[in-house]
Amino acid sequence: MGNRLQDKVAIITGGTSGIGAATAELFADEGATVVIAGRSEEKGQALADRLGDRVTYQRQDVMVEEDIRRVIDETAERFGRLDVLFNNAGGPTAGTVPDITAANVDYGFRLLFTSCVLGMRFAIPHMLASGGGCIINNSSVAAIRHLQGNILYSAVKAALTHYSKLAGVELGPKGIRVNVISPGAIATPIFWGGSERANTLPDEENARKLEKLQRNLARATPLKVSGLDRDIATAALYLASDEGRFVNCHDLVVDGGRTSMFNEDPA
Ligand code: NAP
Repeated sequence: MGNRLQDKVAIITGGTSGIGAATAELFADEGATVVIAGRSEEKGQALADRLGDRVTYQRQDVMVEEDIRRVIDETAERFGRLDVLFNNAGGPTAGTVPDITAANVDYGFRLLFTSCVLGMRFAIPHMLASGGGCIINNSSVAAIRHLQGNILYSAVKAALTHYSKLAGVELGPKGIRVNVISPGAIATPIFWGGSERANTLPDEENARKLEKLQRNLARATPLKVSGLDRDIATAALYLASDEGRFVNCHDLVVDGGRTSMFNEDPA
């Protein structure tokens, strides 16, 4: 238990699994009031119950604009402020160059880009009223090099990274910092969950698959260990805390050195 986020109110989208769930736990441990936003009510509520009184769950599908607005407005109203927004929800996209459709492109942008753009927009008035804030968008090393995910996923994440840096320039003078985290290959259910429907595997099966995945991913970094959801949560904590006060428009790559390796498929 620490106090690096004492008195801060944070929303974490896609907080029902993987990186989002680990971040909710770490933020709560560091004193934040945390809203886990997610589409899987059962998982979100169970996690909130486990993490204690300062953590609540709110239903949210980031494909739905009204859901994004509602969670942000209700959080600010209920807790009186909004300090941190971690736009983390996401999943894979489909298609290869010869067969990508307009529908694939629309889907990829709505899930991974528009959701963040709208989240930022709706958070701004509340952060201004709170005296400033911190927005973290979860991008990917796929935005830098085509290492994982498909071409559309990589291109959309690259758009998110670039947009976030520009947003930090625009919002910096108002006291709102905007950064991205670019995770490398992190062992989470994203590798089998899919994005159009929630991952509904029982906890024991997820745990068994994660163990195997970690062994495979360990081979894909110079460190020879797998990236874990907590590695990204720790990066988010640094950015969200006062220790990150001078960090803005930054792409924080957390990949165990993967982007410096020769390109090969980690999975
Ligand atoms: P994960 O365990 O599958 O978690 C993804 C989360 O996003 C889940 O909570 C999922 O909800 C949620 N989500 C998906 N579609 C949604 C929607 N339409 N509305 C609301 N929530 C939705 O995967 P993860 O690895 O933690 O992924 C988190 C973020 O990290 C993603 O943006 C991903 O692109 C990024 N990332 C991951 C890696 C990696 O190697 N793991 C690498 C680079 C970047 P349900 O639980 O309901 O399915």
